Amino acid sequence: MREYEAVIGLEIHAQLLTGSKLFCGCKAAYGGEPNTRVCPVCLGLPGALPALNGRAVELAVRVGAALGCEIAPESTFDRKNYFYPDCPKNYQITQHDSPLCRGGRLVIAGGTRGIGILRVHIEEDAGKLIHSGGGYTFVDMNRSGVPLVEIVTAPDIRSPADASEALLNIRTILDYLDVCDGNMEEGSLRCDANVSIREKGSVAYGTQTEIKNLNSFKFVEQALAFEIRRQKNLLDSGARVEHETLLWNEREGTACVMRSKEKAHDYRYFPEPDLPVLKTPASVVEEIAAVLPELPAARERRFVDVYGLPAHDAGLLTRSRDLADYFEAAAEAAGDAKAAANWVMGEVLHEINERKINVRDFPVAPEDLGRLIGFLLSGRINTPTAKNVLREMLNSGEQADEIISRKSLQQITDRDVIAGFVKSVLDDNPAAVEKYLRGKDKLLQFFVGQIMKKGGGRVDPALAEELLRMLLEKRR
Ligand code: ADP
Ligand code: MG
Ligand code: ZN
Repeated sequence: MREYEAVIGLEIHAQLLTGSKLFCGCKAAYGGEPNTRVCPVCLGLPGALPALNGRAVELAVRVGAALGCEIAPESTFDRKNYFYPDCPKNYQITQHDSPLCRGGRLVIAGGTRGIGILRVHIEEDAGKLIHSGGGYTFVDMNRSGVPLVEIVTAPDIRSPADASEALLNIRTILDYLDVCDGNMEEGSLRCDANVSIREKGSVAYGTQTEIKNLNSFKFVEQALAFEIRRQKNLLDSGARVEHETLLWNEREGTACVMRSKEKAHDYRYFPEPDLPVLKTPASVVEEIAAVLPELPAARERRFVDVYGLPAHDAGLLTRSRDLADYFEAAAEAAGDAKAAANWVMGEVLHEINERKINVRDFPVAPEDLGRLIGFLLSGRINTPTAKNVLREMLNSGEQADEIISRKSLQQITDRDVIAGFVKSVLDDNPAAVEKYLRGKDKLLQFFVGQIMKKGGGRVDPALAEELLRMLLEKRR
């Protein structure tokens, strides 16, 4: 049995968050009544001329700079010719020979593995075909001419899980940069995965296939695992891998051949005659690079170094910029980063998932959550009370201290009062006491529960347990 290694490279298309399309003034937003955001340019009518959207260039430069690419002071546009109904002018404007950005790096696995970025270039999207029942296909040109960046990684990825993580990291970076909404269901972020296998220890690459348009992290992993298995079976049976383009069928969990790979010259690339050379002088690039936000990897490291968070927490909390912002504001107000991290990862994420909302729309401001955590840490309230108070804050919009005062929720910490509760619970449950003293330790939790009940849920749990153990010993 031969041992193989997978070699994977990704081509990631991300829709840039511009107001208008790449070469005309039509609205670039997703959706809309079909064919209402169109004009002669993005419909490809004869004689219409493209004019490049400066904002799209700026966003593409942000991407290149964030990935450590070199930004070409001069780059050019080319026509990629193909004949298909989603593209009535029969070519797509892209950057082939001299892209805007080259060379760069992405890290995965907590910074332990690096992946080269070959290039980042600007191109326009095509229209959308809607295959209806009854043998008709409709064309919606609203998406035609929407600006994309294509990010191409080197074949440095070695497993489906790493490929999925690389895509996730790209999505997170794009989110931090505010250049792409990352919505894979709506197609704002799409991925083609190239994969080949080679015998372990070999340095030469095998023949790769390309799996088109994977629109979820799960599909990236599943499709690559499927394709690696298929290629192994081919090689083991003495056959060859053909250089093909495959389409992933998510329902069947298989990939089928879409077309045998066109050679690059089949697209008959040639320079776009209607657009001048794109000039992005160093001064402009420096200006854009100077205002880049702190990126996810750096922020993750800072959360570990400065706040002392475990790597797991730092990774989770920096997955989106909004979540990281929320956490930082809550930690500041609480005065304890780890406690804030626990609340954000626990209660806040739970609510957000439950309500299917963005952190930005979470009804409790991070400063208010931080203050609530502060009351817990100072001993004013106990943990179960704090959770109830948060629920009430979510429902009523009231502040934590208002709720605590109005409902008299402050923690009971008076030893004599708690000792009174303990004594009456033990008196009420002689049989349980007997069992506990004969070794049934688990009953301790039962007693604590009863004591809590007597104190309306406000008893200091640590103090309750301490007094409980003491008074139980006295009954031996
Ligand atoms: P093509 O011209 O066939 O599209 P490119 O060389 O432009 O191929 O590379 C496209 C993508 O394929 C890149 O992400 C690259 O990393 C990846 N790739 C290139 N060669 C291989 C290979 N032998 N195995 C896996 N991926 C590869
Ligand atoms: Mg390709
Ligand atoms: Zn238009």
